[in-house]
Amino acid sequence: MIDNAPIQTIQHDGLTVEGYSRAAVQTYWRLPELKLGFDLGGQPWSFMGTETWFVSHGHLDHIVALPVYVARRRMMKMQPPTIYMPTAMIEPAQQILRQFTRLDRGRMPCELKPLEPGDEVELSRELVVTVSATKHSVPSLGYVVWDRRRKLKPEYHELSGTQIRDLRLGGTEVTVEHRQPLVAYAGDTSPAGLDQCAAMYEAKILICEMTFVSPEHRKEKIHKFGHMHLDDFVGRRDRFQNELIIAAHLSTRYHPIAAQRMVQRALPDMLQGRLKLWL
Ligand SMILES: [Zn+2]
Ligand SMILES: [Zn+2]
Repeated sequence: MIDNAPIQTIQHDGLTVEGYSRAAVQTYWRLPELKLGFDLGGQPWSFMGTETWFVSHGHLDHIVALPVYVARRRMMKMQPPTIYMPTAMIEPAQQILRQFTRLDRGRMPCELKPLEPGDEVELSRELVVTVSATKHSVPSLGYVVWDRRRKLKPEYHELSGTQIRDLRLGGTEVTVEHRQPLVAYAGDTSPAGLDQCAAMYEAKILICEMTFVSPEHRKEKIHKFGHMHLDDFVGRRDRFQNELIIAAHLSTRYHPIAAQRMVQRALPDMLQGRLKLWL
């Protein structure tokens, strides 16, 4: 396999998270079991087989690999991919693909689909993605991937299989939809992107940014730029119900070891061991 871009990997409860994210450098994530990815700031060769992507916003470090990704899939005779993104990005992204077609003489077959906060994308019977507002310096979105099941309504738990079947045949709805948030991706955002979407705190796995960690970078100023600071995690430590919290997108101003030290000083238990710095 061609190794053209760094990837880190973690496994949690049957899900694999693969990716890399540094502010102003490149951000890309993939969950192979869910057959989807977030952001196209780079495109490791091995990510090409994933055909559904959700882009958080239009900063270069999150979208610049769109043309190479689409072109590679065409070259490898794979199905045109589906790429969801904020509505405001659609027209510029189409233009960019068109211009690359002029340069490269290659078609760019793909489906770009616009999303707004409150939208829902049904990927399969079991998998739904909800879209939430985040707060950044350009139009931006957060995403939550839900496992959707139908479960027997509690009032029918005592009934036998035959009784349930008879009810069903009689036209009674015996099940109710049950959703569990599996993975939340906040993209680049001030803490508002988490605070305004309860599922960000409830998802099994939360992937979010911690761009700034040093005390000399004041969190108030960081929020204006639409980013998060280590202090925001400290202030919200009781809100995270996630089993795994991946904090990424560290600014290039920090050395990873220095950043790790600052985080460990501020959160000695690393949120009961659930916080993973993705450096
Ligand atoms: Zn970024
Ligand atoms: Zn950004």
